[in-house]
Amino acid sequence: MRVLLVEDDEPVAQSLRRGLLRYGFEVAWVSTGGAALSHTEPYDVVLLDLGLPDTDGLDVCRALRERGDIPIIVISARSDETDRVVGLELGADDYVSKPFGVREVIARIRAVMRRVQPRTTAESGPDRYGTRLTIDRKAARVRLDGEEVALAPKEYDLLAFLTEEPGALMSREQIMEAVWDANWFGPTKTLDVHVAALRRKLKGAITIEAVRGVGFRLEIDKAADKNAEKETGGEGDGGGSGAS
Ligand code: CA
Repeated sequence: MRVLLVEDDEPVAQSLRRGLLRYGFEVAWVSTGGAALSHTEPYDVVLLDLGLPDTDGLDVCRALRERGDIPIIVISARSDETDRVVGLELGADDYVSKPFGVREVIARIRAVMRRVQPRTTAESGPDRYGTRLTIDRKAARVRLDGEEVALAPKEYDLLAFLTEEPGALMSREQIMEAVWDANWFGPTKTLDVHVAALRRKLKGAITIEAVRGVGFRLEIDKAADKNAEKETGGEGDGGGSGAS
């Protein structure tokens, strides 16, 4: 996911940028409203500081919104309640207050993207992950090599969440918040049980790596391709097998 970060405060921008990179985001950083509006590379979400040196951040927010639907998350100082409200009225999708942690920002980004994505992907078919796994998010169905995999509802929710961004590190708190309860408080053993179930049921298609003290990272397995090469002598197309 590509983030356009608009922030003139260099230490804040650098630490946010480092944090986002660590979690697998791509970050383009600009420090003025003018640079934000003339930025030509594509991006998926904007993090917009309201206190900019050249223009009012709210004007930048309005201008970005007039151009299209790309989600905007406003960054504001804790005291600027009015700015936040006006920002939302001008089309911002959410806001974070300074000071904030990287994880909080990431949680906001993911929440905003979840709200936005159904609009844009509703008409496309199942999502394909590697050669073996497909997820039909509309029908909540998972197939491995064309065969439907029976998942418990929370197993499906967990898989759907972790596959939103393969390779990204998700904290336990983020996962619990997204999959179980908005205000989860307590042990997260149930998460480990569900991770174990997904590992077992989708063995060979995905790997869910535990990152000690943080959370989990889902990777799409490439091993499936290697096996195909061994069997077919290098063709390994692995396409739809038409199993019924
Ligand atoms: Ca600022």
